[in-house]
Amino acid sequence: MEDCLFCKIIKKKIPASTVYEDERIVAFNDINPQAPVHILLIPKEHYASLNDIPEEKKDILSHLLLKAREIAREKKIAGKGYRIVLNTARESGQEVFHIHFHLLGGRQMTWPPG
Ligand code: AMP
Ligand code: ZN
Repeated sequence: MEDCLFCKIIKKKIPASTVYEDERIVAFNDINPQAPVHILLIPKEHYASLNDIPEEKKDILSHLLLKAREIAREKKIAGKGYRIVLNTARESGQEVFHIHFHLLGGRQMTWPPG
């Protein structure tokens, strides 16, 4: 999508600190980290949010989640704990409308979220 920030990162028109990439997804460090580990995982296909993922594309969600788990292991936070966040639409705080999972870890999390 032309004017989507994360599509520009996928096309390498905007630089990002990439930690993983394959033919379907990209993972990169969040530019404004909220924890020692804060990585965003996105599909290369543009979908604005979870609300927009069609049923037949559901496999991309498990791929993103299991890759987040793998990165958590690599970053040595799997055992201690981590949080995966999927903000969806305006009231959740979603700001970039290209679906993304946040992988957060490396510090004690609090609950409830803000
Ligand atoms: P959300 O509020 O769930 O839409 O999250 C958007 C996230 O994208 C925020 O955590 C931002 O810090 C992050 N972000 C915005 N621009 C960039 C960028 N150019 N590179 C990496 N992360 C970004
Ligand atoms: Zn996009």
